[in-house]
Amino acid sequence: MKRKQVETKIINGVTYLKCTKCREWKELNEENFYKDKTNENIGFKSQCKECKKKYIIKITKKIEELIKRNIVINIKIIIKHMEKSIIKMVIQILKYQILKITI
Ligand SMILES: [Zn+2]
Repeated sequence: MKRKQVETKIINGVTYLKCTKCREWKELNEENFYKDKTNENIGFKSQCKECKKKYIIKITKKIEELIKRNIVINIKIIIKHMEKSIIKMVIQILKYQILKITI
């Protein structure tokens, strides 16, 4: 997956990161951003927690909708394009609902 260029700034020794989604400057810490070991530059996701949560809720609702309508093929396509960390979170939310269908 192509990563967007991250923008950071340091004010009075505090590092701030511009969220690549909402474009807001937020203090770079676990309160505002999820940790991401794969992101060697900053060690955090480049989208803030708020944006990630919104995205996860959106994608979870979408999958729930597809499950209701028994559209398993579309679910597979969505999952294929999702980050592993997001898949984990979505599965946690859906729990056994998603486990009923074999991925
Ligand atoms: Zn954001």
